[in-house]
Parts: sequence; C-alpha cells; structure tokens
Amino acid sequence: MKGPQFRNSETVDFIVVGAGAAGGVMAKELAVAGFSLVVLEQGPYLSEEDFGHDEIKFAIQKKLTNDTKIQPITYRKTEAEVAKPFKAIEYGRQVGGGSVHFTANYWRLHESDFHERSLWGEVQGSTFDDWPIRYGDLEPYYTKAEEELGISGLGGANPFEAPRSKPYPLPPMPVKSSGVLFERATKKMGLHPYPAPVAVLSQPYRGSGACVHCGMCELFGCEMKAKSSTLVSVIPIAEKSGRCEIRPNSYVRKLETDASGRVTGVIYFDAQKQEVLQRAKAVVLCANGVESAKLLLMSKSNRFPQGLANSSGLVGKNLMWDNGTESSGLFEHPLNEFKSVQVTRVIHDYYDADRKRGFYGGGGIDARFDFYPITFALTGLPDDAPTWGLEFKKTVGKYFTRTMTLLAHATSLPRETNSVSLDPQMKDAWGLPAVRITFDWHPDDIANMKWLVEREREILQVAGAQKVWSFPVEPAQPNLMPSRHLIGTCRMGRDPKKSVVDPFGHAHDVPNLFIVDGSNFVTSGRQQPTATIQALAYRAAERIAGKAKAGEL
Ligand SMILES: Cc1cc2nc3c(=O)[nH]c(=O)nc-3n(C[C@H](O)[C@H](O)[C@H](O)COP(=O)(O)OP(=O)(O)OC[C@H]3O[C@@H](n4cnc5c(N)ncnc54)[C@H](O)[C@@H]3O)c2cc1C
Ligand code: SF4
Repeated sequence: MKGPQFRNSETVDFIVVGAGAAGGVMAKELAVAGFSLVVLEQGPYLSEEDFGHDEIKFAIQKKLTNDTKIQPITYRKTEAEVAKPFKAIEYGRQVGGGSVHFTANYWRLHESDFHERSLWGEVQGSTFDDWPIRYGDLEPYYTKAEEELGISGLGGANPFEAPRSKPYPLPPMPVKSSGVLFERATKKMGLHPYPAPVAVLSQPYRGSGACVHCGMCELFGCEMKAKSSTLVSVIPIAEKSGRCEIRPNSYVRKLETDASGRVTGVIYFDAQKQEVLQRAKAVVLCANGVESAKLLLMSKSNRFPQGLANSSGLVGKNLMWDNGTESSGLFEHPLNEFKSVQVTRVIHDYYDADRKRGFYGGGGIDARFDFYPITFALTGLPDDAPTWGLEFKKTVGKYFTRTMTLLAHATSLPRETNSVSLDPQMKDAWGLPAVRITFDWHPDDIANMKWLVEREREILQVAGAQKVWSFPVEPAQPNLMPSRHLIGTCRMGRDPKKSVVDPFGHAHDVPNLFIVDGSNFVTSGRQQPTATIQALAYRAAERIAGKAKAGEL
C-alpha cells in the first residue's frame, strides 16, 4: 500500500465502497481531481507475488472469488420457495475485484442496446426498458477506459460495432488455433469474425510488460501485470496522488445517515472483526450488482424503512444473469488451446434480436478453451467418454490438446421477481444476513440459449470437428449457474418511481450518495459488462467531481 493513511475520526471527502472494476476507476478519478478518499474493500490487497499457476487453488478452490463458507448465499427459483444454501453468484473479492481474475473480454454495448425496448416493444413477463442514456453519451468514456486501462483489439473489424472515436490503444492478441478454425468456418458461413477485444496488454504499455501467453488467465491473477485490472492500472495512480487510501479487509455493513437524510459515513468490520465508523462528506457505492443492493437493504433506518435509496422499492430487483451456452468440438490435429488468453475471435452476427426466431434475444459467440487440465478431466469431456482407468487417461490425453469450445454470451431479460434480498435465516461469519438470490429464467432466455447452442454446433461442424458435444440448456443445470456477471439491481433512470439512480449513478433519494457499478444496468446487452461498467464509472466520476467542486453535494 502506497497511499496515505487517514484517521477514522477524519471526515474525508469521499468513501468508495469496493475497490473493483468500477471502484478502482472511481478512486483514481476522484483522487486525481483533488479529493481525499478512503476505499474500503472487504478482500485482501494482493500483488503479483500472491498469484501463481496452482489450478486447484485458483480454478477449483477459487481463492480469488467470494467464499460461501464465510459469506453464504442462498438461492430459490421463486418467491414461494424457501431459499437453500447454494453458490448462486461468483465475484472477485480483493482489491481490483473481478478485474483481477476475469477472462478480460472487453465488449462495448451496441447502439441498439440503449433503446432496444423502443425497437422491439414490450416483452411479457419482463421489465425490459430503454436506458436513460444513449451510446453517444458513453462513447467518450469507453474510449477513455480503453486508453487508461490498456485494451487490445482492432477497431472497425466488427461490422456490427457502434462508431468509435479512436482505435484501440493496443493491437489485438495473436490468434490461437481456435481463432483460426473459427474464423475459417464462420467466414465460409458468410459470418463476420473479428479479433476479440481484451483487457490484456498485447504489447508493453505505460510501463507494464506484455502478456507472455502463460495460459492460466481466467480465474487467475496475472503475475506479469499484463491483465489490465484496476489493481495494476488505475489504483496505483490513485495512491500516488497522496489523497487515496486503499483500506483492504474492511467489510462494510451499513451506510449511516443523519436526520436530514444525508449519508454521514459507513460502519465496517476491520480485519479483527472490530466495528469502525469512517466519516465522509459523500459515499460512492461500487460493491457490485449483488453486494451494493445488499448493503442498501441492510442500511435501513427510521427515515429509510425499506432500505437506503429504496423509495421505489426497486433496490435488489431486476437482477440479470450471466446467460450463456457452451459447445465443444474434437479436432483431428492438436490445437494446444491451453496457451495464452482464453479468447481470440468473436462473432456478433447473432447479437441483434430477430422476430423470425419467435422470441426476444441474441448473443455473441466466441472461440476459446475454458478449461485447465484437472477441470477438463472432471468436466470437459463428452458424456459418453470413459470416466475411469486407462481408457479415461487416454481419452483425456487425446481430447485435452484437440478440443476447442464455443461460448455464446446471451441476453438476460430483467424481471422484478429476479432479485437480491436478505435471507431471514442464514447469517454470515460476521453475523450479517446472507444474500438471498431469487432467480428464474424468462422463457425467451431459455429459447434463445437453445437457439444459440444450435449455432455453436453448426460452426463447429463447418470447422471440421470430428465430434461435437454441448452442455444442456435446462434451468438449474450446473453450467447455467453460478452467475458471474452481476447486473441490474439498482437500475438507472430519470423517474424516481421506476429507478434507483439517475443516469450518473446519483441516488434519487439521497443527495450525497452514488451507486456506480454493474447494478446500474437497465438491460443486459450480451453479457461481458465490464467495459460498460467502467465507462459508466468514468462518466459518473466526472459528474461527481464537478458537483463536489461546485459545492452541490
Ligand atoms: C471468472 C470470471 C470471469 C469473468 N469474465 C468476464 C469477462 O470476460 N468480461 C466481462 O466483461 N466480465 C467478466 N466477468 C465479470 C466481471 O468480473 C464483473 O462484471 C466486474 O468485475 C464487475 O465490476 P463491479 O465494479 O460492478 O464489481 P466488482 O469488480 O465485483 O467489485 C466490487 C468490489 O466490492 C467489494 N465489496 C463487495 N461488498 C463489499 C462490502 N460490503 N464491503 C467492502 N467491499 C465490498 C468486492 O470484494 C469487490 O472487490 C467475469 C467474472 C468472473 C467471476
Ligand atoms: S495469459 Fe497473459 S494476461 Fe493472462 S495471466 Fe498469462 S501472462 Fe497474464
């Protein structure tokens, strides 16, 4: 830690809760704008020495994500059911949040995403709506995020992408075997493959070295600092300003308010589980699409009996899920897909919803290999593969080097019944209520995923796969859970009755509270939300700094 250390008794300008994808950006922007701030992060402050290539530790025990042994989660499909313990959600729990271990796919939303409700119309059983902003409002901030964080890609290569004001700052990553086969097949089918935009450095950038293609990327932290997490890109700049303290192992349990309805600070548990009050003039909540809603619901008071910022009753509602489908293909020759980043080629040909399909929905499809040796042996083989003995060993040996996977990233319709709430029974290791997830798939989401699996299978056949197998698309199948893209529980809008925050993340009900993270999403796009989360954070930070300087907070 290189920043200053503030005393708890000091009233800092801002507290940022959560040092993740959005929180890291917010911290840097507010610190360089001249404000003092404390960033409270429940997880540890790790560095490249803490990362490694231990598959059991990082890919199976998932040491970089939330741990349900200390913070249990319960899940139920409908409100009529009693929720049971289940790892329904997964997110990065450390300084840098999800940006440390994520797969690093970095997709901008399309222009249509912001007003898809107007284009498509109502979807029964969903709160599908337009965003209160348009792509043009966010474009400068997508560009800023790509430049500041270091994104590799090829602007203009995706014919469906919205106009961009600048190319990516770094060229795309070298193509892998999966990318070559995918590109050939999709071109043959008249589709439009393009180099995947990723938050990974394809060349040295701003003092950091390039990716060395170690192959342990998704679920791992990068020992080379080549994954463009907030941990290695913007948080060091925030600390160097001398105005930002990153305070790890600080688990916030409540936002405090005064009689006038203003936030005065937050109460958190320190590493020794002692309660500490930190005061601030304003608070920015960046704890992600599930934990921000939980914190607001836990911050009830006489003045805010339904939870803080919740006069609309919408805090926690409209949770959207990481819908996706996966098909694999076995090829004649070794592909050796275990190298480098997961993904190098993508198509967006099926992104837009199309009435001819008979349901709302769409998706992007990428070519990848989502497995490491042990996870592949345990979960990557087709159902008819031997599961024991010499034949199993031979099959793993043959398939591991010759398999590639297609993953579709699909729409998730918002529904008020899909929600984050406080479990009335289960408590975490600090005595706080567990997160209770209520989630059931909209029928169109299921129809869309079933349709996308067929597209994956077609592509793999055209690519020359000798054998093709898919994970089943049935609700509650392990491959549909847990969700890693947590969006939509504090949606943005102009009407305080129909939204929690304004288009800049400003809580409608509380003058000095902002909520800026995945929770602000109105619709899901086609997953890969982090580029939009960070663009929204840059845009909100500019607004917050402007208001604070004008004495309007
Ligand atoms: C394995 C995996 C792969 C992924 N791959 C991709 C991908 O390829 N592309 C993509 O776009 N997205 C991907 N994601 C999702 C991506 O990580 C998230 O969308 C993104 O990190 C969300 O940003 P955020 O700022 O909303 O929250 P986060 O990054 O989750 O940050 C929130 C932070 O707040 C902290 N926090 C929460 N509650 C508290 C509290 N009470 N007190 C203090 N601190 C708290 C958390 O510990 C966390 O560090 C992936 C996720 C996972 C798990
Ligand atoms: S593949 Fe590249 S970016 Fe990913 S962890 Fe390895 S070196 Fe880092």
